[in-house]
Amino acid sequence: MSDRAPSKGLVVIHLDGLSRGRLELALERGHMPFVRTLIENEGYEALPYRCGVPSTTPFAQAGILYGDNSEIPSYRWWDKEAGLLVVFGSGSTFNRVADRYFAGRQPLTVGGACIAALYRAGATDRFGPPYEERHRPDQPDAGGRVIAAFLLNPVTLYFWIRHGGLALFRIASEFLRARFSRRRTADVFVIADIYHEVVVHHLTRFALLQAMDEGLPTIYACFYTYDEASHAFGPTDPNTLRVLRHIDSTIRLASAKRRGNRAGVEYEIVVLSDHGQVETIPFVTADGESLGRKIARLLPDHAVTEHRGLAFAPDGAEPAGRVEITYSGGLAHVYFAHVAGRLDASALQSRYPGLAEHVADLAGVGMVMVKDRDGGALMTRDGRFPLGSPLASQTTALLERFDAPEVLAAQLRRLNSFERSGDLVVFGAYDGSKQVNFEDQVGGHGSVGGDQLHPFLLAKKEWGLDTAHVTNASDLYAMLISVRDRE
Ligand SMILES: [Zn+2]
Repeated sequence: MSDRAPSKGLVVIHLDGLSRGRLELALERGHMPFVRTLIENEGYEALPYRCGVPSTTPFAQAGILYGDNSEIPSYRWWDKEAGLLVVFGSGSTFNRVADRYFAGRQPLTVGGACIAALYRAGATDRFGPPYEERHRPDQPDAGGRVIAAFLLNPVTLYFWIRHGGLALFRIASEFLRARFSRRRTADVFVIADIYHEVVVHHLTRFALLQAMDEGLPTIYACFYTYDEASHAFGPTDPNTLRVLRHIDSTIRLASAKRRGNRAGVEYEIVVLSDHGQVETIPFVTADGESLGRKIARLLPDHAVTEHRGLAFAPDGAEPAGRVEITYSGGLAHVYFAHVAGRLDASALQSRYPGLAEHVADLAGVGMVMVKDRDGGALMTRDGRFPLGSPLASQTTALLERFDAPEVLAAQLRRLNSFERSGDLVVFGAYDGSKQVNFEDQVGGHGSVGGDQLHPFLLAKKEWGLDTAHVTNASDLYAMLISVRDRE
């Protein structure tokens, strides 16, 4: 008998887009029976935390994996210095600016595996949806190996075909039902939904179980199915919660390997989400014009490009300037790409007098944030609200309906400190339950207000983690390290 204690490992399951509130409902309605047993019989609890602003995956996941999410202002943004749209997913360009990020940071998954994450953060990173573009010739094709192993495993293949067929049928009938009831569905996301449900989820699950059998010390595996379904059908659609059943069974399969893996490693499992979602109202409904079109009207001599949207150019003449607008759900960054560095309020006022006020006054816009001393300011149609601490009483009153005002103000000041944030940061209006969304989605996030700011961390009580004061996903990094390095 060996006198060596078995080595310990950590598995983190990233369940994209599920708020603490929706998790509670899913447990109540029986959509996550295995997670329920973890809570009832194994001493787990679903801790609420605040992900910070922007409530998007690149921001939260960078925080969780590296403990650092500075200069990640959105899901997609304009990098003035590189003259580049930074975007994740298929066609990812993050690798072109990646050398400016995470300097000197040790990823949570060092020496382990990061499966389907947005960032390379492990020794053996594996296939994932946003991963395709990141193969460089000097790196082994880890993704290819996972796909080959997956296709050569008859048991997995059987489950995939069986589940895939059902999932396709379910999503297609849900889509048709929504069509017939004239409910809004975001078509692009329905396709993404099918792809994620049928292909990616199964590959990720397969890679996760394989990594456990190989005994890798830390494994981070991301599941995006729920987020995609919620974008397509909305977080409050009962069918969206049903998707969680497959994730629940993935958690069950991984849990069965906590002790019973081939490598003999003793794993602990953490399940977490990165942000939530809220129901949306599209920005363009009122008069059919996008934010980019509105800004092009305010700046008729400028070329305006919307990222996920249209492009507008002045007739005949050479444009006087170039505006790049990036949308992430209910958040829009507006950049003057021909001006180096980020414009502050006074530079903005002298170059574009009254523009910020005009944008703040547009129907569907809730707030516009500008850079200024003492953390900057928010502008609405009712005036200007300084973000500086201590918080002015009118700012407290403005922020109250989104979240605890002091907390939110600090989160906004941080976003406003990023050089990569827009010269104008535009938040869609939020009425207490729905947010105005700049992208065509039924459920959205990226902005402030409601569930989108409130994800969860499912952890064992005995680890003593306290998330009550977590106001940025990057605070989870140290907590997960403490679980990883437990005795
Ligand atoms: Zn999303």
